[in-house]
Amino acid sequence: MNELWHVYLSAWPTVWAMDTARYLVAATLMATILALFWRAGLARRKLQARDPARGQRRRELLASMRTAFIFSLLGALVAVGDHQGWITIYKDFRQAGPLYLVLSLALMLVAHDTYFYWAHRAMHHRRLFALFHRTHHLSRTPTPWTAYSFAIPEAVVHGAFVPLFLLVVPMHGLGLLAFGIVQILRNVMGHAGAEVHSAAFGPGRWLGWNNTTTHHDLHHEAGRYNYGLYFRWWDKLMGTEHPDYRRKFEAIVSPAAATTAPVGAGRLLARALACVMAGGILLSADPVRAEDGPVGRWVTPGAAAVVEIVPCRDAPGLCGTVRWLWDGVDDKGRPRLDTQNADASQRTRPLVGLSILSGLARTANGGWEGRIYNPEDGQTYRATLRRPTADTLTIEGCVLFICQKQVWRSAGALAAALR
Ligand SMILES: [Zn+2]
Ligand SMILES: [Zn+2]
Repeated sequence: MNELWHVYLSAWPTVWAMDTARYLVAATLMATILALFWRAGLARRKLQARDPARGQRRRELLASMRTAFIFSLLGALVAVGDHQGWITIYKDFRQAGPLYLVLSLALMLVAHDTYFYWAHRAMHHRRLFALFHRTHHLSRTPTPWTAYSFAIPEAVVHGAFVPLFLLVVPMHGLGLLAFGIVQILRNVMGHAGAEVHSAAFGPGRWLGWNNTTTHHDLHHEAGRYNYGLYFRWWDKLMGTEHPDYRRKFEAIVSPAAATTAPVGAGRLLARALACVMAGGILLSADPVRAEDGPVGRWVTPGAAAVVEIVPCRDAPGLCGTVRWLWDGVDDKGRPRLDTQNADASQRTRPLVGLSILSGLARTANGGWEGRIYNPEDGQTYRATLRRPTADTLTIEGCVLFICQKQVWRSAGALAAALR
């Protein structure tokens, strides 16, 4: 027993130093790349309009250091397992050749992606979310420092993967080292906040089976989609990939995105060309027609709220904003605020004026699909809208204060009745 403690305690400092350094080096590297290339092009690949909240990076750094500590407590168990012969970490290529190293590393990444996808989905269950996963989602707009920003229980779940995998599959020491490097690099790339992958990573392209920054950023922005870590396979298979992913990735890496770039003398022609392309994209997009789309002002059941749906200002599709609330102010006359938001910095936003519907796009069967933010639980859900009659809009999903199918009425019809 004493001997096992000795093995554990003598391995731990090295494991801790490696886990901590890995995070610090990778996040610093990504932050440096973002700073160096921001003006040279990454600024126009920024994925969200909002900036990281004040104090967010500091909170993420502290939580990540705690995670690295927890990873090291679990990682040092590997040394004990190795000492006892429960697991095999070999150093001699005579035991297994380089081909085995490559194959076992590939297997480890596929297994980790699978483990991560299902553990991540479980942690989004409403019974588990607050305890396990809320800390990570406090970062609505991720930064490289978000990489290990987990609550303690979530850190234990992630830290358990390596010891569990090694119980089953023998690994070369170099394979294990490579896994640790790939894991943290893909992690900070996913949280970069600006798309750092090239167009070759687009869906349908030759590297399109990999996740991108856009992919994981949409998970932070919208929740409920894109649970995978390295690969898109599980999200595709389980139907949890964000419906806007392909469009958003292609828009962000396309040359048309360069229309917002600072114009140098030699770039005028390229800019004109890009404007034509952007115009072409707009013209070829399905035009929004008021008579058959959900554009307009709508009254929710019980006249609880009036929501205005219009074409989004800075993205394709339709967006919806709360224009009026029956309970818009409390009994002291103070405006009601978005107090349930997962992002603490957003909790002082008044509910009136809040954008709650976004990215509504036409579906093949004549409906509209997008995301709806429910201020009651601070979560964002998928919503399907239909307009069966001129005065009626049906919403399926979790909407203002109720999770179910709702019928909204045209505000014009209500106003006519009040006259
Ligand atoms: Zn999540
Ligand atoms: Zn994340």
